[in-house]
Amino acid sequence: MKALVTGGAGFIGSHLSERLLKSGHQVWVIDDLSTGRLANIAHLQSHPSFHLAVETILNETVMDRLVSECDVIYHLAAAVGVELIVKRPVETIERNILGTEVVLRLAKRYLRKVLITSTSEIYGKSEKVPFDEDDDRVLGPTTRSRWSYSSSKAIDEFLALAYYKEKKLETVIMRLFNTVGPRQTGQYGMVIPRFVKQALSGEPITVYGDGGQVRCFTYVDDVVDAAIKLMESPAAIGQVFNIGNDQSITIAELAKKIKALTNSSSEIVFIPYDKAYEQGFEDMRIRVPNLSKAKRTIGYEPKIQLDEILHKVVEHFRQNEM
Ligand code: UDP
Repeated sequence: MKALVTGGAGFIGSHLSERLLKSGHQVWVIDDLSTGRLANIAHLQSHPSFHLAVETILNETVMDRLVSECDVIYHLAAAVGVELIVKRPVETIERNILGTEVVLRLAKRYLRKVLITSTSEIYGKSEKVPFDEDDDRVLGPTTRSRWSYSSSKAIDEFLALAYYKEKKLETVIMRLFNTVGPRQTGQYGMVIPRFVKQALSGEPITVYGDGGQVRCFTYVDDVVDAAIKLMESPAAIGQVFNIGNDQSITIAELAKKIKALTNSSSEIVFIPYDKAYEQGFEDMRIRVPNLSKAKRTIGYEPKIQLDEILHKVVEHFRQNEM
């Protein structure tokens, strides 16, 4: 099987590419290195079945060739990270919507199955626990730029479902909840790499808001397992799936856990959202996935729990990033 991985030099894309190569597939990666890093795929570059195009997915000439040569498409290229989204909203909206449009149009031309990576941001600030795939979305106003991410990914989902319904293109949507693991950087706001780096360097650990917001963290290998199973499952076609871990923790507890795990002397400080992001920033209070549809359809069960995830991330930071 020849797989095209858009965003393959990113955190999740690089882990997926590695796994596909290990399973004997040929892998083509396209990545513009906007948030992806060559260092993430340096260890794959000499593999005979690995091919890299440093290019944007908006380049239709290059994308046309890549899509025509592959069998399946894992579409991960997107603007990511709440901090980046708030700082550069034009890029977020354009890249997410136009990029997915190119991928789907070319997939239709060559009849290639596509896995679209979406996000739990889709649910917005709904406080329902847990989130089911068919739940209503609750979003803030367009004047708050955070919601542009949720809306841009929702357009991607609508488009993928429309291509399936109207044009019989095989599409599958995976809605990822907070995913973590080695190679994720804290540069774009993600909380675990930030806290780990802060703890290891003795800087203050910055909890935003009152720290009572709840998240569930998934290890990247569990996400990679799910992506491959969703791609291989005929029952998943034309469907949306939550992929995550349903073990929850507040961000204040997370800060304490990371401080203890690293034996850090860092102080835990609380920073108002207005200062951390922008005036009027709205956060999600609680975000927990219902995983029963993924379990039913592809036997999905997250294998790695938070303590082990934190150990792995701390180890990665100690060895590579500090
Ligand atoms: N967060 C925090 N300190 C940081 C970075 C993030 O307290 O330095 C909080 C953030 O406000 C959110 C949670 O941690 O409530 C998870 O943030 P992340 O950006 O990792 O993912 P999100 O769930 O917002 O997509």
